[in-house]
Parts: sequence; structure tokens; C-alpha cells
Amino acid sequence: MALKYRAKKNLGQNFLIDDLIIQKILDAIRPKDNDIIVEIGPGQGAITVPIAHSNAIIHAIEIDRDLIPMLQKKLMPFPKIKLHNQNALNFKISDLGNNLRIIGNLPYNISTPLLFNLMGYRECIYDSHVMIQKEVASRLTAIPGNKNFGRLTVMFGTYMKTKHLFDVTNTSFDPTPKVTSSFLNIRPKLNSEITVKNEYHLSRIVKQAFSQRRKTLRNSLKGLVSDKMMENINIRPTKRAEEIPIFKWSELANYSEKNDYE
Ligand code: SAM
Repeated sequence: MALKYRAKKNLGQNFLIDDLIIQKILDAIRPKDNDIIVEIGPGQGAITVPIAHSNAIIHAIEIDRDLIPMLQKKLMPFPKIKLHNQNALNFKISDLGNNLRIIGNLPYNISTPLLFNLMGYRECIYDSHVMIQKEVASRLTAIPGNKNFGRLTVMFGTYMKTKHLFDVTNTSFDPTPKVTSSFLNIRPKLNSEITVKNEYHLSRIVKQAFSQRRKTLRNSLKGLVSDKMMENINIRPTKRAEEIPIFKWSELANYSEKNDYE
């Protein structure tokens, strides 16, 4: 009898064991013949194998070399799958083609850096379907005025559209994580929807405003953006950061960069 694989906590290994959830994931992704799918962290193949039946081209990126022999065996019947024993954070996914479809039950410890890494490759991504911890998902999908609306919401939302599809309870995984998860659909915004001119400047403003989120913008952005600048683009300086919608932040960054502080 094969020994049960011992999950590695430091690699965020919580394997999906719930067939109903796996089916819901497949229904959401709807893989098609010759889609180019990039899976981050195939683990023991819980999603990879069912997707392979769709005849899609799959690139599965798994960092844990102890899982590779088992995966190779399970994926043997599917010649359109390529396994990459690599760290997804350093993997140049643009080398795999265009209109990529990203999928993954992401390792929770690095879900945010992985999402920002994907954001950097948005030009070659068609869509992504990912499982992450609910707490981070709530921040990505928060609307203005909500306590979860923050720096992450704005910096990610400037470039990507995130839709919450469903939640998954911790009992659907082995080992059982402490937290609930959410399954999300994330698509890059079109270039015409992204207006930010200088990402560094945007990031500076957003960081400063949200690091003192209880203060009014007038106070938190003192020295960086004047009242006049805010008023000229219809932002009241007495508002707080969490009240300003995503698109207004790039407008504020663009305007304050090209005009003098007064
Ligand atoms: N997809 C499988 C499932 O749903 O059962 C496994 C999901 S598990 C939450 C996350 C997987 O990502 C693990 O297999 C882990 O080894 C892998 N992983 C962790 N860090 C990684 C990294 N930097 N690059 C690629 N894979 C990684």
C-alpha cells in the first residue's frame, strides 16, 4: 500500500479532498480544448487530473520535488500536460504563450505575492481562477466604505477585476486549515481602463493615505497632495482614504504628479 504523503506546512500544502468543490471549480473554469492553462501548485493533482480530461494544454508549476514522481505517474495518460518543478514566484509565465488561463488553489503563505506577480504578467493573461484565504479575498473585493477596503484593494484593483465566486469551508482540505477559503475569478483590466501614469507615485500616495486611514486625506497626504489638487478633481479633502473609489486614486496620482503643490 502506498504511504500517505505528509503535507508540508511551510509550502502551504492543504490538499483539496472534496469532490463537490472540485466539480464547482471545474464548472467555473470550463476548460476547453487547447486552452493554455497554467496551474500554480498542482499538489497531488486534485484539480489537474480532472482538467486534463478537457484536452487543454496544461503547464503545472510545483515547487515540491517530493510530489513530482506521484504527479508524473498520475499525469502520464495526458501528453498535453507539462510539469515544471519550479518556484512559481520566479517563473516567467509570459514564455508559455498568450491568453493564458491561470488556475490554482494557492499556497496561503504566499498568495498575495503570487497575485501581484501575476498582475505583472497581465498582458498575457486571459483570466485566473484562484482559491485564497477568505480574509485576503475580502480585501481584494471590498467596496469603498468597507473596513476591508485598503491599500491591497486599490493597488490590485487598479489593474485587475476580481469577482468572488464561492466560499469553501476548511473541511474540504487535508490537512484542515484554520481559515475559510474563497474561490475567485480575476481578469486583467483592459489597457483602456487603466489610466495610471506613474505606478511608483500612485503607490506612494496610497501607502501614505492608508497607513493613517482614520485621518482625513487633508492630514494624511499633507506635503504630497494639496487640498487644491484634491478639489480640482472633485475629491473632498475632508474624506478618508477608505471612502475614495479605486479609479479616483490613479486620477489623483496623475494629477498631483503633473501639477505643483500649492
Ligand atoms: N492544487 C492542489 C490541491 O488543490 O489539492 C494543492 C494545493 S496546496 C494549497 C498548494 C500547492 O502549491 C502545494 O502543492 C505546494 O507544494 C505548492 N507550492 C507552494 N509554494 C509554491 C511555489 N512558490 N511555487 C509553486 N508551487 C508552490
